[in-house]
Formats: sequence, structure tokens, C-alpha cells
Amino acid sequence: MGERVVVGIDLGTTYSLVSVLRDDVPIVLPNALGEHLTPSAVSVDEQGVWLVGAAARARAVTHPLSTVLAFKRDMGTDRTYRLGGTTKSPVELSAMVLAELKRDAEAALGIPITEAVITVPAYFGDRQRQATRDAAEIAGLRADRIVNEPTAAALAYGLHRRDRDLRVCVLDLGGGTFDVTILSIADGIIEIHASAGDARLGGEDFTDAIVTWALEAITQRHGAAPRPDTREHARVREAAEHAKKILSREPTAGLALPGLALGRATVDVTLALDREQALRLWKPLLDRLRAPITRALRDASLLPSAIDEVLLVGGATRMRPVVELASSVFGKLPSHQLPPDEAVALGAAVQAALEQGHSAVEDVVVTDVAPFTLGVESSEISGNAVVGGLFVPVLERGTTIPASRVKRFFTLHPEQTQLNVRVFQGEHSLVRDNHFLGEYLLKGLPTRRAETTAVDVRLTYDLNGILEVEMSVVGSSRTEQLVIEQRPGKLGRAAVDEARRAMASLKIHPRSTLPNRTALERAEALFVQLTGPERDTLGVVLGHFRATLESQDPAVIEPARKELAALTAALARRE
Ligand code: AMP
Repeated sequence: MGERVVVGIDLGTTYSLVSVLRDDVPIVLPNALGEHLTPSAVSVDEQGVWLVGAAARARAVTHPLSTVLAFKRDMGTDRTYRLGGTTKSPVELSAMVLAELKRDAEAALGIPITEAVITVPAYFGDRQRQATRDAAEIAGLRADRIVNEPTAAALAYGLHRRDRDLRVCVLDLGGGTFDVTILSIADGIIEIHASAGDARLGGEDFTDAIVTWALEAITQRHGAAPRPDTREHARVREAAEHAKKILSREPTAGLALPGLALGRATVDVTLALDREQALRLWKPLLDRLRAPITRALRDASLLPSAIDEVLLVGGATRMRPVVELASSVFGKLPSHQLPPDEAVALGAAVQAALEQGHSAVEDVVVTDVAPFTLGVESSEISGNAVVGGLFVPVLERGTTIPASRVKRFFTLHPEQTQLNVRVFQGEHSLVRDNHFLGEYLLKGLPTRRAETTAVDVRLTYDLNGILEVEMSVVGSSRTEQLVIEQRPGKLGRAAVDEARRAMASLKIHPRSTLPNRTALERAEALFVQLTGPERDTLGVVLGHFRATLESQDPAVIEPARKELAALTAALARRE
């Protein structure tokens, strides 16, 4: 492997992954536990030691107040979280996840890693993209390139290497969101045409549908069912989640809930669910999946039959009815050969290889769309009054970038010698409701008795978020330029350095003992949920493992950890 290695990172809401191109094939790198998926979770313990990943995720059950999940949803906002006696922003929490992935990649590859390509949802605006870049910088990673998740999926499937133009629809059904993106690939250019989605529809809703059904069945049989926010309810949900995953592989699934406490009574519950029943439970959800697909196709002015490839991304596209729905809408079998939760990360590695000019990857230009409208302030004369502060869009949102657009503006009076060109970003008709980006005072305009002066304002926006404003005085050769590099929401140098210092001073759990710690936290999380003999058994094995930790001898610790991990997995019915 060469000197400089750029990794690909999928910084997800629930899970994150780091990947790299090895022997011309993208692979996901294992974390300290040897797992591919690192939960995007951060937790701090009573000793002030910070945990990232599976151990932190497990602590969401046992220590909800010192654990944060799903902070990606707040990227680009001013929200902060209090934990461990400090305040952390979503950028800092993301930086901790990125630092963990960097550590894992360095361990796997044996070299320092300082550059990454990071993926973001296609609908992320400038602010959220910049927040992602800032997080990378704090983690000690340069992220010159931010790539849209659906674009990465297309790269992972190697669609950029096909020798014909393609229209592609990427369906991404995660735990809590559904995103539909239509893109085209032609002459090595990947372009996003439309994106739509449902931010409140995901795999978790399919689990919830099974929970509702199970609670009804339990009520029918036993006259009562566990209430929400109780441990018994959590057990039902876990059994439902497990059954949902089984149905992706097998025609029927059982929900076994021995010793379920219902008030003072304890009952043994076993329920069976087959695919046909599940399909009935999921019908309303499956119907909801159709709407964003229809919207995206309409926005791209395409019929379903015009789509050449349908890609399935996100863990929940493993569900059969989702695959069947995609097949029936598009009249063709969707591609789901790659593990759906890894496709985006694999594509990020392909893009990373492109960044490095890797010979195995042909040149592909990936384009983006402008997330906001860019425009200029203007004034109108109305009778004797001048109405100012009006926003005139020049480069519309959704325009494929890099892009350049021009619009002509006029001075209000023939004798006017100056024109202040003020540039804004936003969608409102008045500039005061939009975001001010920069201004240029064009002086010494020619004055003419009869006419006002015309000025062409050209806005050019590139993939790195740099906006060039070019002003040409019509009828003269004069051209002035303003370059706006300051990105909205970007942390200044000082703020990034400060955040880096703050992170460097944190006690992060050592990587070498993370498997032990994770085994403990996972077992603890399960221990609080179990009851009866299962809890007793787990308690014994957990106690034994704690005792072996005292020995500090890996030869003693490891077999005990394996025993505990196996038991935890069996009891939690993890897959
Ligand atoms: P993601 O956010 O992409 O990790 O998606 C997670 C969602 O995928 C969760 O709702 C999981 O329950 C769901 N999921 C993962 N594996 C499977 C499977 N084998 N069958 C059905 N759903 C799954």
C-alpha cells in the first residue's frame, strides 16, 4: 500500500463504518471488536473515561443520562448535550466517532491516517456539510471531499464503470428514515436529479407494527399486556425486532417470552408470525414507501420504466416486502448484492481512491446540487418610494454544481455612480430573512443623462463551497470579482484548535481493553432487562468475568470474555 491512504467513512445516524480500497476492491475495516459497524454512540463513565461505539451504545440502557445517540440529526444546529459535567456539540460528538474510526483504520492498516472522504445524506445543506468537515478536522482528518450517500452507493456498485449511460434510483431505508434519490451516470459524471424522503419512516416502524400486534395478542390471551417504558415492554420489542429479522430469512418466526410479568401474574408467552401476517401488519408502512418514490420520479420527470438500476441501501431493505415493492414499482429486480449497511461506506472508499488517483478507478466526476438558492439584493422604485431589501435569486437551489449563472441588474437612477452588490443565500423574498454571505461596492460607474447603468452579476459555485461573484459593467470592459469562501457555520481556526485541545485532554478508553469493556457493558445492559433464571445465569458468568479482569492476564481473561459474550448474544438473541 502506498504512502498516502485516504479512507472512506460512512458517518451514520446509528452506525458508522470506515473502509479502504485493497487490491482494487473496497473493504470495510474492522473496529477494536473485529466488527464492521461501530455504533455512533458516545458515553462517559463515572471515572470520566469516554467510550465510543458498542460499549457506549450498551450504556444507553444502563446510563441514559451520560450517553448520547443519533446526534447526526442535530449536525449544523446549535443544540448541545450535557454529559459527564461538560457540554458537547453534535460536531464534537461526531469528531469523537471519527477519531475512533481513524484509530481503527490506523490499527488495521498500520500507518497514520490523516485524510478521509466522508458521506452525508443528499439533503444535507451547507451548514450540515460544513459541520461534518469541522468534525473531521477536530478528529485530525482532512475531509476535502464530502460525498452524497446515494452517490457513494452507486460507486460501490461500480455503476461508474459501465460503458453506457444509466439512470439510477437509490432506495435507502435505515432504522428511522427513508431516502429516495434519482441520479444519472453519463461519461463519468454522476449527477443527482431528485431526492425525496420520509424522515419518519424506517425499519423501527416495522418492528413497532409487530409490537402492536404482539401486545394485542397477549391482551387477548391473558387479559393484560406490558405497558410502554417498562422492562417487560422492552422484552416484547426485542422479540419483535428479532422476529422481523428472522422473517427476512425464513417463512415464519416465533416470539418467545418466558416468564413475562403481567401485574402480579407471570405467564409464558409464545407467538408465531408468518410472512403473510407480517405483510398485513406492514401494509400501511409499505404504502407509505411509495409516496417519496413517486415524488422523486416526478421531480426528475421520469417514468419508473426509465430507471436502469435500482439500488437497495440501509439495513431495513433486507426485508422481503421492501425488495418486492421495489421490484413491482420499477418492473425489475433491484440490486442488493452488497451488504445494505455497508454499501455507502464501500462507495466512500471508491471515492477516496479516486481522490488519490488510484489506477484501479477510472476518472469519475461526482457532481452535487446546490442546497440553497443564491441571489442578490435589489430595490424597486414604486411611485416616489424606493423599496429595498428584495431578494433576486440567481442560482436556484437544486442546480447541479459546479454551476455558473448570470443575471442583469440596473442602477436606480442614471446619475448613480455606485452599486452595492450584496449576496445572500436562502429561499425568502426579502433579504433580511436570508443569510448574508458578502458584498462588494462597485464604485465609479459611468453616469449617463438618459439611462441607468446595467451590471451583469455572475455567481459561480464550486464543489468546495466557494462562491465567486463576478460583476461586469455592461458596455464597458470593466469586471470586478468577489470570492466568498467563508462557509456558513464554519468553525474558525481558533474554535477548531480549541475543540482539538479539549478532545486531546479527554480520557478515551484504551483500544486494547475495549473488547473487555464492551463485553461488560453489553452484559450489564442485558442484565437490567432480564429476570428470573436467565438473569441469574448471566450474573454468575458476569461475576466470573469481573474476577478474571483482576488477574490482568489475557490468557485468563479471554476465555471468560468469550464465554460471557456468547451467553449475552444467546440471551439477547442477537444475530
Ligand atoms: P441502518 O440504519 O441502515 O443500520 O438500518 C437499521 C435498520 O435495519 C433497523 O431497523 C434494523 O432492524 C433493520 N435491519 C437490519 N437487519 C435486518 C434484517 N436482516 N431484516 C430486517 N431488517 C433489518
